[in-house]
Formats: sequence, C-alpha cells, structure tokens
Amino acid sequence: MGRIPDEIVQQVRDRVDIVDLVGRFVSLKKSGHNHKGLCPFHSEKTPSFNVHSERQSFYCFGCHASGNVFTFLMNAENLTFPEAVRSLARECGIEIPETASGEPGLAERLRAANEFAQARYRAALEVVDSPGAAYLKRRGLDASLIERFGLGFAPEGWDFLTRELSANKISAEVAERAGLLATRTSGGHYDRLRGRVTFPIRDVRGHVIGFGGRALSDDDQPKYLNTPESPIFHKREAFFGFPRALEPIRRSGFAVVVEGYFDLIALCRAGIEGCVASCGTALSEEHGRQLRRRTREVVLQFDGDEAGQRAMQRSLEILLPHGLRVRAAALPAGDDPDSFLAREGAEALRELVEQAPPAFDRVIARAVAAGCATPWQKADAVGAVAPLLALVSDRVERAALCDQLALAVGAEAGDVTAAVRTAARDGDAAGEIPLKARVSSSDERKLRGLARSLLDHPVLAARVPRDEVLALVPVRALNSLLAALLDAARAAGESRLDVEQIASSLEDDARQLLHALAVEESQLDEGSAARTIDDTLAWLRQRHVRERQRELTRQMRSEGADMLSLLQEKQQQLEERRTVHRQPPSGSAT
Ligand SMILES: [Zn+2]
Repeated sequence: MGRIPDEIVQQVRDRVDIVDLVGRFVSLKKSGHNHKGLCPFHSEKTPSFNVHSERQSFYCFGCHASGNVFTFLMNAENLTFPEAVRSLARECGIEIPETASGEPGLAERLRAANEFAQARYRAALEVVDSPGAAYLKRRGLDASLIERFGLGFAPEGWDFLTRELSANKISAEVAERAGLLATRTSGGHYDRLRGRVTFPIRDVRGHVIGFGGRALSDDDQPKYLNTPESPIFHKREAFFGFPRALEPIRRSGFAVVVEGYFDLIALCRAGIEGCVASCGTALSEEHGRQLRRRTREVVLQFDGDEAGQRAMQRSLEILLPHGLRVRAAALPAGDDPDSFLAREGAEALRELVEQAPPAFDRVIARAVAAGCATPWQKADAVGAVAPLLALVSDRVERAALCDQLALAVGAEAGDVTAAVRTAARDGDAAGEIPLKARVSSSDERKLRGLARSLLDHPVLAARVPRDEVLALVPVRALNSLLAALLDAARAAGESRLDVEQIASSLEDDARQLLHALAVEESQLDEGSAARTIDDTLAWLRQRHVRERQRELTRQMRSEGADMLSLLQEKQQQLEERRTVHRQPPSGSAT
C-alpha cells in the first residue's frame, strides 16, 4: 500500500478541528482549556472524556483512550490510519495523489457504493413521470423537502442499480456487502430495493451508510424495507436524521425520537429540527447511549393508541437507565404526525412536541386509569409502574416520582418507595449479559468480526494463534466462543461448521452471541474475512502492549520499584509495539 506523504498528513491535521470532529459524536462542554463530554469509547454517566483544542488531542480518564484527530476517527469509525487520513482530507478538500493513497479499504468502498446508489436514486426521482415523484407529491412533499432529505427512487425491475453499478465499474460484490444488491441462487445479482421511495441513512459525518425504502402502495408488503446491516451500517445505533439533527439538538437541549421516516419529515415541516428515527428496529441500548452522549433530555413522539403506548413504555425501559429525562408527546389515537399536521397546523404540532409532559405523568395516569379503588387495584397500579421507576438513576428524581405515584394511587409514599426498591433488586438479579462488562461497543464489534470471519470461513483458523488470542480477548463470552470456533474449525477442515453442535457446548451468553452471528444476513467473502482476522489480531496485540505499558508506568511510580528492569521491559514493549503497527502513523504521533 502506498504511503501518504507526511506533509499531507500534517496539512490535514492542521486543517481539521478536533473539537468540531469529536463534537459530531458527543456533546462537548467547554471547561477551562478543555472540552468535556461522555466518552464515545466506553460506557459512562459522568463525563471523563477531554478534548484539548490547542493541543488537538483527546484523552479519557475512564478508559485511557487518547490520541489526535486520526486516532479518534480510527476508533470511532473502525478505520485504518490511511483511511482516516483520506476521509478527513476529503472533508477539508485536500487532495491526496492517487499513487500515494493506496487501495481504499472495505469501509470506504462500501461508502462509495452507497454514495453512488444515492446519486442514481436521486436521478431516478427526477425523471419525467417518475412514479416515486408522483407518490411524494401525493404525500404533500415539495421539492425543497425532497432535496433536504435526499429522497430518491429505486425503480421497478430487478436490475436498475445492478446495471448502473456495472456500467460504472463498481464491483457487485462490494455493492452486495453494502446491502444494495442481493445474490441470485443461480448466480449474479439483483437490486434489493425496487419500486420504492428511498431514504438515505447517514452517519454523523454525513456519509450514506444504508437506505430505507417505502413501497408506493400499501398493498405492497413489506411497506418499509431497509438495506441490511453491513460493516458500516449498524441498525442498533443508526438514526435517520443524522447529521442534520445534531446542531438543533445541541441548541434546544433535547432530542425528539419518532418511529418513522415520514413522521420525522412531518415534524421537520412543523419546524422541529432536532429529530431522529431508528431505522426499522426498536430503540436499542446503543441508541440510548448515542442519545445520552448528545443530550440530557428526550421527547418520545408516539401514537396515542394502545400499541403506541406500549411502544413508548418499551422505549422508556431503554432510555431511563442511561440517565435520560424523557418526555412523551402523544398524538390523538388514529393520528400520525402527517394527518395531525394537515388538520391542526404546524403551530399545534410544534406545541404538542415542545410542551410534551414528562413521560411518567402519562405512565402513572395510565396505571391509575386501570382503576385503584380496591387494595388489589392499588397494588396492581403500583406494581405496573414500579419497574420503570426503578430504572430512574437519579435518587432525588426517583423519590419525587414515588411521591407522585403514591399520591395518584392513594397509597403511602413509604410503601411505594419500598415496592420500587424491590423492583430494582429484582431487575438487578435478572442481570445483564456480562458481555458488555468492560469493552466498548467498537471493541466488541471488532471481536465479533473475528468470530464472524471464522464462522464463515473455518479454513482461516490456521491464521489464528489460538492460545495467544485467547489470552488477549477480554470478554468471557467472546473468549469461550472463539475457543469453541477455533477448535471446531480445526476439526472441520474444509467442511462447514455445525453451528448447533458448537452451540451445545457453550454457556448461555456465548451461545447467544453465536446465534446472533449465525443469523446475520450477508456472508463475508474469504478475502475480507482474512483481512478482518489479520486486522483484529494486530489490534489485539497493540491493545495488549498499550495496557502493559500503562501497568509498567503505574509500577514505576510505586515505592521500591525495580526501575532498571521495568525500564528495560518498557523499552522492549515499545519495540514490539512498533513492529505490530500495520503502518506507522507517521506525522500523527502525539
Ligand atoms: Zn473512555
């Protein structure tokens, strides 16, 4: 791979502002010379992530992640050093000579395929008599809204995009990994989205990472179809509405979460800008974390009917443990934001959302509405709300809510508090999957990628030094899964792995992981699986060296330390670190 000249690396580094870059991933507050926020690389509730704008560096006191703009992007988007440089260079208009830029990595090629598809879908909407344009017009969207959200159209037929890609020499395999194409059993590819209006889903930096597609008629099922997960599209953390919602969220201090793409557009038409929608999935833990890094307060917009109410409560269960304050904006039953906007006007919709009451008002009102005249009914009403109250992490807030519930139900505040405490204990006992214990989600993703590659291509197990890797993998579930996969792969030789047989040897958490990997839609091709394995091994080793360095530094500070041997080891570690770097990030050292 060609090397990017140092002076270009330097130029990019000078041009990019680290506060601006990091600010797209987490909300930062100025404090002295630093900007502070919640760490994007580990889970936390009080900010220990510091960005220093003069030094253009960051450091986390929690997980000790540190570095400059390049390191940040490498970690945040799982890129190699050259990929991070290229990505930032493009953003600030610095050209990198072709010969120096080397082969683009998979992530970059996936993004390029998506950007290409986006341009083709946009063009297909502009064609005279485009059925997509007619549909959007029927839904009352004008040209400026269509432009603003980048809506497009995937024509009927099976090979619109397939042909366009091939005419432009973009590999069908790459487009397939991006989720744009699917494979025919007879060989060859076909378009995944057909006869649908397309919604580009972007990451916080504005890259298209996936698409949502809406059928033109309600008779076409499914009504919504999204492109599948890919190495750059993780539905558990993706939001439609990024990155344009970021600034309004920062300004207003709250984020509005809606259920669908058109809901979001309706709210935007009413002048509500800080709005996001999950992409065809329910809200996840990771979504909760994404929101908490950017704001303290969330408004959930949902339908006023029974199903909407239940969905709202489920979202509360996800958001409360992150310390988010949640308000609930309910539409009248039978309305969606579109119909409400059409009937009541923009002002009314804006008021409904901006003046939304705390979600607990609604939850408590609902429990009380079920009746609380008899002792049994009172107990049921408290029992229905207690598990949610137990998730409120702020003690003062929780105590006040207990009082509110007690008053509404007509029970003693002390008894309600006791019920909430019991619910909290029960919740803890049920326990979380220990998987998330000590690794960040991006670390976890890398390790999952390793397991995934072995699962798809057991012959590659030969590349993996079993004992070394098992010593380095920190998560118990992943560790036992990798051990089982490596052993099974060695035994299987050329043949495929028997997932159920491996599963039967595993404990619950590792088995869940295995099944999650086994149901992922697309398959890795052997080349990228091999690359994933090599990259992950290199990363694991670097991580180990870094940790050992920190440990040595700590020992040196302690009394009676054998300085000479510690220094020698430290030196040796540094040498090793140099050799395990895939490419020395020259010019990027901090
Ligand atoms: Zn951290």
